[in-house]
Amino acid sequence: MNHPQTTSPLTELSEDENLFLSTVRQFAAEQIAPLTRRMDEEQHMDPGLIRNLFSLGLMGIGIPEQFGGSGGSFFDSVLAVEAVSTVDPAVGVLIDVQNTLVVAALMRWATAEQQQNYLPRLAGNTVGAYALSEAGSGSDAFALVTHAEQRGDTYVLNGRKLWITNANEAGIFIVFATVDPSAGYKGVTAFMVEKGTPGFTVGRKEDKLGIRASSTCELIFDECVIPATQILGPPRHGYKIAMETLNEGRIGIGAQMLGLAEGAWAHAAKYAKERKQFGKPIADFQAMQFQLAEMATDIEAAKLMVYNAARLRDAGREFRKEAAMCKYFASHTAERVASLAVEVFGGSGFVRDNPVEKLYRDAKIGKIYEGTSFMQLATIAKLTLG
Ligand SMILES: Cc1cc2nc3c(=O)[nH]c(=O)nc-3n(C[C@H](O)[C@H](O)[C@H](O)COP(=O)(O)OP(=O)(O)OC[C@H]3O[C@@H](n4cnc5c(N)ncnc54)[C@H](O)[C@@H]3O)c2cc1C
Repeated sequence: MNHPQTTSPLTELSEDENLFLSTVRQFAAEQIAPLTRRMDEEQHMDPGLIRNLFSLGLMGIGIPEQFGGSGGSFFDSVLAVEAVSTVDPAVGVLIDVQNTLVVAALMRWATAEQQQNYLPRLAGNTVGAYALSEAGSGSDAFALVTHAEQRGDTYVLNGRKLWITNANEAGIFIVFATVDPSAGYKGVTAFMVEKGTPGFTVGRKEDKLGIRASSTCELIFDECVIPATQILGPPRHGYKIAMETLNEGRIGIGAQMLGLAEGAWAHAAKYAKERKQFGKPIADFQAMQFQLAEMATDIEAAKLMVYNAARLRDAGREFRKEAAMCKYFASHTAERVASLAVEVFGGSGFVRDNPVEKLYRDAKIGKIYEGTSFMQLATIAKLTLG
């Protein structure tokens, strides 16, 4: 009898993936963990840490080596976001936006000249940001009103973006604007905008519940002149570019939430074995064991979903449903696990110097950005029910 060729288990990593993962884990433990609490309190990403993220190649994972990047896969980006987010999901989203949104969009849509210009900078020292949302357009993203008016071989941008991750640190922004408000989503066009361009300013920074070290700001465009050569992809293709990149980006947010849940679980399990009540470690009580076992099961399920979606993407297969499902499920898992982790610590889980207190606050964002949980369900319903 002919046996079909056996395929590797989803969570089995290649030698290169294992090596990469252990390097990122060590970096997260040694270089990120000591900064996490201060960065959260000061709402500020340490510039030295950002430099080290570049040095380690974590800001250009999918950028080919010829442009100074690490030449890694999308799955490598997912592993990095997961590993970093076990320690600090605010740093997780910094590298997530860079790799799964900004670099991914440029790899697919930029011209050879644009790739030559932007990719070495994104791999070497320049943070990227992805600006789609506005005050009036969130879930209904293509109701955006930022306007790009063509004048000769330039476009003049006017309008405001809201909620833009990495805005304070970024040097390169992908900005979605409409060249034809009457055309609806068919007018949306993506532009590459550089920090310092006259008429472009980064505005108010949000004071957030969680991922506080990650900057989230308004962008203001006031008669901002952008050469037509800085359009990403064809004009009026912004809708396609945004949809494609956000489909992939969702897997990155799934990885961020998976890492967060793993981090919270590890803190809770360690404490449960140390903390004694009624004369024995609280981990000896079956009620405690079952809670930790349930959390571990949810984390395993989230991991399989995130890894499967990422591997489907790398294999060039259809992955939209799996991406929406993994983001939905991993966000739900992160919120539940972080909440239970706070309870495992009792009173000491409720104070600022406990990492699970921060992870609990950080977990909430998973259900909101890159499409709320309701919007993921809408996608899943459409793709499953037809
Ligand atoms: C910290 C943070 C970082 C962010 N980073 C970025 C970024 O880098 N770039 C960027 O472009 N954007 C970013 N965003 C914006 C984010 O993607 C939006 O906040 C998100 O898409 C939700 O949009 P909204 O806030 O306008 O909420 P709304 O769309 O107004 O939704 C409000 C509520 O209504 C629900 N709802 C809306 N429509 C429906 C419907 N049809 N059926 C059922 N329920 C519905 C939603 O699920 C939600 O519960 C960020 C946001 C935050 C908070």
